[in-house]
Amino acid sequence: MSKIKLQPGIGQIDIYEGGATSVKGIGNVVKLSSNENPFGPSNDAIEAFRRVAHDLHRYPSSDHAALRTAIAAAHNLDADRIICGVGSDEVLSFLCQAYAGHGDEVIHTEHGFALYRICALAAGATPVEVKERERVTDVEAILKACTANTRLVFIANPNNPTGTMVSEAQINHLVDSLPKNILLVLDGAYAEYISGFDGGATLVESHENVFMTRTFSKLYGLGGLRVGWGYGSKDIVENLNRIRGPFNLSAAALAAAEAAVMDKEYIEKCRLENSRLRNWLAGALAEQDIVSDTSMTNFILARFASQEEATSCDNYLKSQGLIVRQVSGYKLPNCLRVTIGDESACRRVSHAVGQFREGAR
Ligand SMILES: *Cc1c(COP(=O)(O)O)cnc(C)c1O
Repeated sequence: MSKIKLQPGIGQIDIYEGGATSVKGIGNVVKLSSNENPFGPSNDAIEAFRRVAHDLHRYPSSDHAALRTAIAAAHNLDADRIICGVGSDEVLSFLCQAYAGHGDEVIHTEHGFALYRICALAAGATPVEVKERERVTDVEAILKACTANTRLVFIANPNNPTGTMVSEAQINHLVDSLPKNILLVLDGAYAEYISGFDGGATLVESHENVFMTRTFSKLYGLGGLRVGWGYGSKDIVENLNRIRGPFNLSAAALAAAEAAVMDKEYIEKCRLENSRLRNWLAGALAEQDIVSDTSMTNFILARFASQEEATSCDNYLKSQGLIVRQVSGYKLPNCLRVTIGDESACRRVSHAVGQFREGAR
């Protein structure tokens, strides 16, 4: 009698935990643990979602042509080189499935997004973690870590949970030095928070071995619908489409995302409000000796003197109905990741941290 055999790597995957949504015994909580847009999606997106209710018996589009065309127009890209996924998570997973397998190495950074390791292991490949320099991706260290078995390099720019960015010069240097048989994936989940930043699209245009992923879950406020996309060479996009389920995105998700990407005015408003409140909160926490690196995203990585202090502060915030994210799983045990909420949420966080610091002294 033989036992059912699990594929190698699967047993090593720690199940991903999403940000908490509630605190036992506490009502009226503010969720600042998943980097969601506190203002929600554009009204146009909500309207488009509602309209789909009349056609729920119809299969959705399988080629996502309307959404790809809208994305291409908004970002000035080639619609034929876009692939849409159930969140960008699904696109990351396609990349590992298509380009990494047993014996292959997939590079991610020390404090890089958890999904890179999960997707690599799920594909049977070996994740390789590369040190960062003071919570910033270290391009030289990545180049040194490349071997004959390296297939993929994942960099989120800006990164989650650090909020930091690698300079354009550094990314260009990496692209120029990286062997051409290694695919560099630039995860632009937070690219929209930086006015004028293309997330790496220009590099994709000029290099076959650069791929970019983007999402509707953050600035566009559609995390609940699960829509992301990728941009790469025609060849890569064709290969990823081979493994994509034909109806991976629901009609509601497609319609809402299409409307969301076209509402530029709303997106601009959210981006400006995020920057204003992020600067305010970072300053308010710094005045209380809780420092953070300059964030380019919709969250701040608040650094405490010790893991104990971070944990006690997290508990105190919870008692005040404020849910932030512990990031010890990202090797940042003395930090808390705080999503930028609306003005009232930011003021509540600052006030609660102040109370915690007074009580702690
Ligand atoms: C949130 C996030 C994503 C993706 O999210 P989806 O909801 O799957 O699109 C991807 N990368 C990073 C770095 C993120 O923080």
